[in-house]
Amino acid sequence: MDIYKIVRKTIRELQPYSSARSEYSDSGSILLDANENSFGSVIEGEYHRYPDPMQKKLKEQIAQLKNISADCIFLGNGSDEAIDLLIRVFCEPGRDKVMIFPPTYGMYQVCAGINNVTVIPVNLKKNFQISSEQVKKSIDSSTKIIFICSPNNPTGNLLAVEDIQTLLSDRQRIIVVDEAYIDFAETRSLLELLPDYNNLVILQTFSKSWGLAGIRLGMALADQDIIGLMNKIKYPYNINLLTQEKALQALQNYHHQKILVKKILKQREWLVSALSKFEIVEHIFPSRANFILVRFKDARLVFRHLWENGVVVRDRSHAIHCENCLRITVGKPGENMNLINLLHKLHR
Ligand SMILES: *Cc1c(COP(=O)(O)O)cnc(C)c1O
Repeated sequence: MDIYKIVRKTIRELQPYSSARSEYSDSGSILLDANENSFGSVIEGEYHRYPDPMQKKLKEQIAQLKNISADCIFLGNGSDEAIDLLIRVFCEPGRDKVMIFPPTYGMYQVCAGINNVTVIPVNLKKNFQISSEQVKKSIDSSTKIIFICSPNNPTGNLLAVEDIQTLLSDRQRIIVVDEAYIDFAETRSLLELLPDYNNLVILQTFSKSWGLAGIRLGMALADQDIIGLMNKIKYPYNINLLTQEKALQALQNYHHQKILVKKILKQREWLVSALSKFEIVEHIFPSRANFILVRFKDARLVFRHLWENGVVVRDRSHAIHCENCLRITVGKPGENMNLINLLHKLHR
């Protein structure tokens, strides 16, 4: 499809800001162009220069790991930045719409709301899969982006690839597949579909399986035209130097990510098995992520009991199809044991 046909006119015609470091970055030169502090920093370390606005080194490493071209990678201050930029590239405020599939991640709705973009919610079916009939009824040419979260937060399941491909095949709008939890899913990423669909955007993040929520680094992986548009409107130095350095270190430690994922999957299994023995547990939804959605007989009671004893979980009772459900992040062995022991006390 011609991506530029659905880009906002303002963005298509925008002359982007050109930063000093994007025009010249040779560290061998005498750099007197960016009004940096030429003497250094007030703390130890080389922090007086602006960071690489396009994060070239980091993207080259990620490109190798993901086996894609560096031109197909956007890096943001968390995936949340990518969500916001995509809406601002494609959705004309007050006119265009985005579609979401509740119960799902809250940021799609919030970012749309901030940009005065209408959200069309099409509830997932009771099995937490997309209802193609409902989509057909609710979609129109002003629906510019569809946000799909797989594995889905808070339900933990993967969405059917066939349903996602049906939406992609329309080639009328952008399909964003948020794969924040893909490394826990023991399945293939939809990255392999990128060459076939230039309307596909995959979101991934360093916040979950890499254990780097604190450095704020998310990725959008897509056709280079879409990446170019996101780069055009991002803040010039959106990824700071410390984050770029830490992420490069993390990529050198790729094997450790695998170890962390293995530990979490083992604990997830243990938690499911322990939870399944409780009478107060009505249902444990199968999880492909690092959390478990659990339906209790009385979620409020459980939540309060845990809260009062210093264990905080997420109450999702008010989300559609999630009555009496708590979302529990998989913890370390001692933390999970603690949770189970507290539930035993409630049981008596
Ligand atoms: C945690 C999470 C993210 C990650 O957001 P960051 O801004 O990268 O930390 C993205 N999408 C979903 C669905 C999540 O649950």
